[in-house]
Amino acid sequence: MAAKATPSPTLPVSKRFDSASADMTLQSSDNVLFKVHRVNLEMHSQVFADAGGSTVGTVENEIVSLSETSEVLELMLQYVYLQPQPDLREVEWEVMKELAEAVEKYEIYSAIGVCSQRMRECVSDHPIEVLLFSVRHKYTNMMNESAEATLDIPPYTMLSCLPSDVFAAWVEYQQNHHALLAKEFTRFGPSRSHRGVSASCEYWHEHYALIAAMLASSLSREGPPRPRARLRAGSAGLSSVLGASMSSVATGANATGLRSRCDANRNVLLRLPDMLERRQEVGGDKCADCKRDLSYWMSQTERDWRDARKFSDYL
Ligand SMILES: [Zn+2]
Repeated sequence: MAAKATPSPTLPVSKRFDSASADMTLQSSDNVLFKVHRVNLEMHSQVFADAGGSTVGTVENEIVSLSETSEVLELMLQYVYLQPQPDLREVEWEVMKELAEAVEKYEIYSAIGVCSQRMRECVSDHPIEVLLFSVRHKYTNMMNESAEATLDIPPYTMLSCLPSDVFAAWVEYQQNHHALLAKEFTRFGPSRSHRGVSASCEYWHEHYALIAAMLASSLSREGPPRPRARLRAGSAGLSSVLGASMSSVATGANATGLRSRCDANRNVLLRLPDMLERRQEVGGDKCADCKRDLSYWMSQTERDWRDARKFSDYL
């Protein structure tokens, strides 16, 4: 925040924040003025409250320059006035993430909860940026959810987006995940003889083949670095890079409709129990032993995932 005492009459003023009784003017990074009441800011923002003692009695018409854009300030200031709050689902992502950072920066408590909740809802569309946000502001649950959503993203892409300490933790986390994934291929194997029967079950092979194909499809996603993958987090092109990588993830067998698209975006180990359950339903009437073994497989997979270290444990 930098204060200066020479207001420029030529700058545009926000229509929403243009009160005649205002005693403070904020200037956005794109040079829009917001005429506000100091008491509102001090009541809702810890940072303005803390600065209050040092700025009381300063020049009239003081202008405080902020680093946020007018779009962000227009939304943020609605949280310090007695008025309906904005519907954050209508806010485009680039503005939303800046708003979430701004309310953390100025410690606007009335907005921190809804903004972080909205960020959490955006995990599947913007996993890396939500991961960075949650690490910066220490939201453990959001951090673990978004890290899960990045497991299929190539390390080359992650390297260019994450700070080095976070990337080091992420690599360890992803390696552990690969170990869990490898375990699934050999947990039961392609042929299976049920208890008391010497020949392998004719139905098991199909179950295994379909499950192994699904597990393998996640491995084939990790290709060489994409030409545009060196973009930095926060650059305008990042979301398009991620959009490209996520849409390639969404080409699973049933990637139609929103729900199945989300399912296809979920990590393969998280989808495995559902897959095992479907195999039980489809093949259960053919062989009761296969059904039992699939059920056992499912419980082991779920147990291993539950016991696996979360991303926050690696930081
Ligand atoms: Zn069987």
